[in-house]
Amino acid sequence: MTQSPSRVAIVTGAGRGIGAAIARKLAGDGFAVGILDLDEAGAKAAAEAIASGGGTAIGVGLDVSDADQVESAVATVAEQLGAPTVLINNAGITRDNLLFKMSETDWDSVLGVHLRGSFLMSKATQKYMTEQGWGRIVNLSSTSALGNRGQANYSTAKAGLQGFTKTLAIELGKFGVTANAIAPGFIATDMTAATAERLGMPFEDFKKAAAQEIPVRRVGEPEDIANVVSFLVSEGAGFVSGQVIYVAGGPKA
Ligand code: NAP
Repeated sequence: MTQSPSRVAIVTGAGRGIGAAIARKLAGDGFAVGILDLDEAGAKAAAEAIASGGGTAIGVGLDVSDADQVESAVATVAEQLGAPTVLINNAGITRDNLLFKMSETDWDSVLGVHLRGSFLMSKATQKYMTEQGWGRIVNLSSTSALGNRGQANYSTAKAGLQGFTKTLAIELGKFGVTANAIAPGFIATDMTAATAERLGMPFEDFKKAAAQEIPVRRVGEPEDIANVVSFLVSEGAGFVSGQVIYVAGGPKA
């Protein structure tokens, strides 16, 4: 969906996986894109790939759960590209374990990246959106928000992001800012490859088994999520806010 070329989007965790696909899609839609990732080299490489295809992007390293790093990375994007009025909170980690084996560090780090990270990023960027009277926030939730064995930390964070999204929609709506969440099902990325490895299964077998349980009989690709982000941040989606869209190849996890 083509945008005014002056609009600037930030995508966190966009050095690879779903975030990188979202960054590519938004660059194709005409956004200048700030690619923020823990892996600074990965962020810069993703930005260079977009630039070599004719798009505009910069890569910045940060940990989204660190307030000073968030402030500084958002300021860098604003200085180099302009006011960021689109934010995609995509950075994420898993630290799966059954409750009785889950460490406090596993709990804190997952909630820190997903919840604290999305809070800090939204707080740092909302001022640009409210000043412009226009903005779009999209948070990456998950079908795991409905509960998933071995993911007490992750499912809590992803369910929390749904409440966060609805509250942002209520608070920021009068400034022309929408907030929505996308809850992906199984998407083929390094994250699901790591789950297969943890379960001792070849990734291809893991994907085939997962596809059997999905109504459209395939697992998702990062572009499946990027396409929905593209719609949610478009001008035409201005009356869609506070929603959670499950993008899972069927109605349930
Ligand atoms: P991924 O391939 O593991 O990519 C996650 C990215 O986030 C990585 O580039 C990672 O950086 C970055 N990141 C991690 N911690 C960070 C931090 N503290 N600050 C900044 N960046 C950080 O994962 P993905 O599958 O693309 O997932 C993207 C989002 O979709 C996540 O929020 C995930 O929970 C959600 N999701 C995924 C699936 C799925 O099936 N894949 C399903 C539902 C929801 P490094 O490269 O340095 O690690």
